[in-house]
Amino acid sequence: MNELFHVLDKFQKISDEIHIFLDSLEDTSYIQIYLGTVIGLKVGLYQYKSVSEQSSDLNSRFSEPRYLINFFSVGKSHLPYNYKDSSILEISQPVQNNSFGNRIYELIQSQIDSKWADILISHELQVYSLEKILHWFSSFKSLFTSPCDSCLSILIFEPKVGQMIPPLIRIEHPENKSGSGKETYCLHPACVA
Ligand SMILES: [Zn+2]
Repeated sequence: MNELFHVLDKFQKISDEIHIFLDSLEDTSYIQIYLGTVIGLKVGLYQYKSVSEQSSDLNSRFSEPRYLINFFSVGKSHLPYNYKDSSILEISQPVQNNSFGNRIYELIQSQIDSKWADILISHELQVYSLEKILHWFSSFKSLFTSPCDSCLSILIFEPKVGQMIPPLIRIEHPENKSGSGKETYCLHPACVA
């Protein structure tokens, strides 16, 4: 199992509500992740095969394919209500395009893009950075059910967006990465101090 599938397998085991679809097992160009019927994330990938100069054996000079990330695209979940299967699946056609159509998802998209930019600056291996992003993203499964940690409401009217929005800002507890208890703060944009 290559490192990408290892990360996805580990991530899927966090919760029954996490469903992962790949366009292909051999030549994966995107991953679609759904947190139940709440939210979806599409991760665009491209592969490269690195060549080891050390090995004299021609066959072993080509390592496992490595994946680099092209884009993240947040949108609505396309899973039917009560979807049960929880294995990593292969599908043939994309079911989510890159159009958002909802300000709530756009605001989550901008958080993920800035998180990813921070990770790229840190020069970590992309597949392990993906693991961190996915772990953070998994907190959105309670997008419409977790109250704001500041005002304790779920939906409030956000004038800048012109609609009711849930606490869609997710901030990780800096001191609680490995410990028990709540891992992320949920906040409305207006409630971020
Ligand atoms: Zn709030």
